[in-house]
This record gives sequence, C-alpha cells and structure tokens, in this order.
Amino acid sequence: MVQTKCIVASTSASSVPHISSFINGEFLTGSGQTSLSINPAHPEQTVATVEWCGKSAVTDAAEAAAAAQKSWANLPGPARAEFLYKWAEQIQARSAEIGIAVAQEVGKPIGEAKGEVGRCIAILRYYAGEAVRQTGHVIPALAGGALQYSVQVPLGVVGLITPWNFPIAIPLWKAAPALACGNTVVLKPAETAPLCAILLAETAKAAGLPNGVFNVLLGDGVELGAELLGCALIRGVSFTGSSRVGAIVAERSAARNIKYQTEMGGKNAGIVLADADLKQAAGLVAGGAMRFAGQKCTATSRVIVERSVLDAFQAELISAVEALRVTDPMEADCAVGPVITDLSQQRIQSAISGLIGSVYSGQVPSEGFYVAPTIFRDVDPASDLAQIELFGPVLAILAADNFDHAIEIANGVPYGLSAALYTKNIPLALQYANRIEAGLVRVNGDTTGVDPHAPFGGVKASSSGTREQGTAAKEFYTETKTVQINP
Ligand code: NAD
Repeated sequence: MVQTKCIVASTSASSVPHISSFINGEFLTGSGQTSLSINPAHPEQTVATVEWCGKSAVTDAAEAAAAAQKSWANLPGPARAEFLYKWAEQIQARSAEIGIAVAQEVGKPIGEAKGEVGRCIAILRYYAGEAVRQTGHVIPALAGGALQYSVQVPLGVVGLITPWNFPIAIPLWKAAPALACGNTVVLKPAETAPLCAILLAETAKAAGLPNGVFNVLLGDGVELGAELLGCALIRGVSFTGSSRVGAIVAERSAARNIKYQTEMGGKNAGIVLADADLKQAAGLVAGGAMRFAGQKCTATSRVIVERSVLDAFQAELISAVEALRVTDPMEADCAVGPVITDLSQQRIQSAISGLIGSVYSGQVPSEGFYVAPTIFRDVDPASDLAQIELFGPVLAILAADNFDHAIEIANGVPYGLSAALYTKNIPLALQYANRIEAGLVRVNGDTTGVDPHAPFGGVKASSSGTREQGTAAKEFYTETKTVQINP
C-alpha cells in the first residue's frame, strides 16, 4: 500500500498555499479532488492544499513535453545551459523559503534542508556545464575515406518518478541531466512532498524554461504511475523509491522496451575494526544512522564491530546518539525529526516492539510522528532487523570475529547501496574496497551523502545498474547514434 500523509479533504485552509499540477507552463486548477500535505512534526498543521490531477493529465503532460522536445533538443548546448543557470538563480533567490518548505513538508532538519537547497543549485550549475560538453567519438571506418562517428542523442520525453526523502534534490538530479541532454520531462513526485515539487515548477517557470519542457503531476502514485509507465510518448523512465515499486517500474518499462533506471533501498553497513578511532567512528555511525530519523537510502542501519572492541564502541555510540537532538525540524540544532507519516511510525514501531537486545532508546516529543532512536545489540545477521530496510532511526549492532567475517556479514543482505569501514589499516581498507558489494564505498566516512558530481547508485537489489549524477547520468538520458559518411 502506498503510504501518504495527504488526507483527502472536503474543505481547504485559505492561509496555506494551494497547489496544482504544472503542465505546458501552466498550473492547472479545477480537477475537483483536493488533499492536504501536512507537517509530520505537527500533523494538525497544513503545509499546502493540493489539487490532485487524474490520469488524463499524464497524456496532456506527455503531449506538451513531446511538442516541446524537438526545439529544446535543437537548441545549442550553451543555450540550454543558460536556462539551467537561470533556474539555479531562481532557486538561490528563494532558498530560505524552499529550505523551510522541505523542513516542514517532509520533516527534514532545517540545517539539512538548507543543505539540500544548496545541492540543487550545485546540480543545476554542474549540468549547465555538461550541456556544453556533449561529445561523441570519431571511429576509424573500414571503408576507405569514410568519416564514421558516434553521437549521443536524447531519448525524447522522460518520466521521472521520485520519493519524498530528498524532495527537491532527487527530482533535480534526474531532471537536470535529462534537460541538459535535450530531453523534456514529466515529473511525478511523491504524494507526500507535492509542495516541494511545485516550488521546482515555480522556479523553472520564473527562469523562463519553455512551456512543456518541465511538467509536474500531483496525484495518486499508483494511478499516475501506471499511466506514465504505459504512455507511448514516454521513452525513458528514471525511478527512485522502494524496491517493491522499483520492480513494477522495471517490469512495465521492459515490456515496452524503453530505457529505465531504478534506484532503490539499502541495508547499509558500517564496519568497525579493532584499530579504529572508536570515538570518531561512533560519531559517524550515529549520524549516518539517526540523522533525518534514518530516512535516507544510504543511512547506516547495521554496524558490524570486531568483538574485541564491542563494549567500548557501544559506549561511544550511545553517547554519540544521545548528543543528537530529537526535536522539531525547524529548530536550528535538530538532528532527528519525525518520520514521514503515522503509517511509517506504526510500521517501524511494530517491527521493533518486543525485540530483545535493545541497548538504547531515546526520548521523543509527544506531538508528531516521532520514533525514538533505538539501538539493538548482538543482532542475528539473518534476522529481519539485519535484513529488511526499516527506513527509520533504528540501528543493529552485529558482532564479527575478524575482518573476513565482517565482510561476509556486510555482504550477506539482498541490498548493495552504501558501506563504510572504520580503520587505520590501509591494506585492509583496500581489500574492503575490492570485496564489499556496494555502489558507494567509504573509508572513515559515514554511509550517507555523496558529492553531487560523483556517480551515485547501488548494486544487487539496490539498483538496476545505471548510475545517477556526474557524467554517468548522461549515459542514461541519451542513446548512441553511429554515423558513417562515405565520399
Ligand atoms: P515508494 O516506492 O513508495 O514511492 C516512490 C515513488 O513511486 C512515489 O512517487 C510514488 O508515488 C510512486 N509510486 C508508488 N506506487 C507506484 C506504482 N505502482 N507505479 C509507479 N509509481 C508508483 O518510495 P518512498 O516511500 O517515496 O521512498 C522511500 C524509498 O526510496 C526507500 O526504500 C529508500 O531507500 C528509497 N530511496 C532510494 C534512493 C536511491 O537513490 N537509491 C534515494 C532515496 C530513497
């Protein structure tokens, strides 16, 4: 079942923004179905009233995007770049307001929410540069005197389906490379983060992006998602979200023989070796596990510790987690806010209630969808707690006999997104980098976060194998055309 905190409403509050889908440069009103986006820290507080569109809007958006695509792709790269630079400027000009929207709509601590706005600006500037650097290859031809070359051409109209946890950065780290490469975009954001998506639409409009180049559909994920995946005008789909929905996206895209990428969940491990700086490692593991209530695909949800330092590390870890403030995301020093919905709160609480081995459970505010930061010790590597993504502030400590055993435990899950090793032993760090099954590999860093210009993605059940961000993203949003010109 899709989780949502958008409650279908019969009336709408007038003091909050009223938002609707963005198609062909216009915000469409009058669909009739209204919902509320609420603040997970203060569920009685409405962040936006939202008009949901029906499935016919998918065709309207795809047709607008298709009509705009040829002239967008025909613009010289530097001209497309100018639009992306202007979009970055518009986001910069409204950065305080957008940061607050992120904090209030998805419960992200305000410091991290502001960081996400900065990341969006960096992403747009980076891909503005990449729009100018569209290159191909000259390939020697067997036929004498012929010129043979390959060029990267856009897919056409791409559909983007995004989650709520990076409600502006993920839509943009898909849209920016797509647009830089000459595609046009239909974005279907998560139902729980519609205001953030519409702020992207407003800033795109203010930046003067041509009508139809960037469209946003607000509505039911299952209904709009199915329509988008079946729409003949959509020539590629980029999805980030749960493995369950990712499997649907992959199956339907493959059936239509269109390009797709699915970036999904994780069960990310930190490995603490006996020679590690335990205090530093504990701080990094605590932050990776608990910040933003553990709601990052790259969050540390398992920490595998060499048995000889288990007690000492646990003590450092508990004091590092205790130092993370659990409070309203709008408080400047908030580290841990609420989880996204009451359903998430209940799901996480019921998954951990009654489990033995809890060594820490924090305090939470009485109002809002909070889950207490919780740590379990001596967790069985085969248990659900060590195998299933919970997407909450829950950390499992697992004991390992030695380095080899730790690697075996770390790799013993279906996922392979992010991993971290804490050690001063460089030869072991090199071995770990070779042997760990993860797309993002850290030594003495935390499992979360990645530079916006570095490739991002996982292995095994975490990803369909393509990469986002950096130059790698351009591979997904283009296909290769090989040309031979004979004399
Ligand atoms: P989700 O899978 O529930 O939803 C993701 C998107 O899919 C939403 O826009 C939703 O409306 C849409 N959707 C739902 N049902 C659909 C259907 N039947 N067809 C098409 N689209 C449909 O995920 P979520 O709860 O929004 O996000 C949390 C998940 O995302 C976690 O598993 C997390 O690990 C993952 N995630 C992964 C990455 C990554 O880069 N690997 C980044 C962030 C989040």
